[in-house]
Amino acid sequence: MGLPFSIDLYDTLGAEICRVGERMSRQGFCAGSDGNISARLDDDLILITPGGVSKGHMRADSMCVIRVADGELIHGRSPSSERAVHLAVYRTRDDVEAVIHSHAPKATVWACTGETLPVGIHPEAELMLGRIPLVPYATPGTDRLARLVADALTPSTAARLLASHGTATLGDSLESALARLEMLEAYCRLVIELTLLGRIRRLSESEMVELLALKRDVWNLPDDRLQ
Ligand SMILES: [Zn+2]
Repeated sequence: MGLPFSIDLYDTLGAEICRVGERMSRQGFCAGSDGNISARLDDDLILITPGGVSKGHMRADSMCVIRVADGELIHGRSPSSERAVHLAVYRTRDDVEAVIHSHAPKATVWACTGETLPVGIHPEAELMLGRIPLVPYATPGTDRLARLVADALTPSTAARLLASHGTATLGDSLESALARLEMLEAYCRLVIELTLLGRIRRLSESEMVELLALKRDVWNLPDDRLQ
């Protein structure tokens, strides 16, 4: 019996996930076998990285296929132990095509403070990321963590920090989920360094009003604060 999905699409997405893994690895986002990457294969199935592999050295044909509805393994071996988090996002948001979980170092440093990342500091971070929910801590790989991640999702959530753990970013493509991870890491570096300096210039209320109007009217991007 043939596979219940397009093998061409599996190959294409698998190769793209490998390239994303290499880029994450080159930027120091993946110590050891840290991190996991997934992408929607069709309405019912996702591709996800196998557990315990270096993200810089993956093979496209090692990707696992699991069913969104019940998490059943359809193809491959040993899908990522964090698959429940990925599935929770796809079940909650139909528009999401890709999810990346990482322990990117600066974002993880901030996540381990257990505090919500401040906003109103840098204009591009406001436009591209907006508010970053902090998901309360739960043991990695558990359904409880997946539930907490799903609870923190709103229609405009682009990224989340997982308390004492790392990051989860999502997008309408692998490229956009990676871009958001890179921006989140850069923003966390900025906030940490400003915190160490002990001086932060906050954008004023009128500057934020103008910025959010730009986000809505010109960039056409959603933001919880515009509702
Ligand atoms: Zn993790």
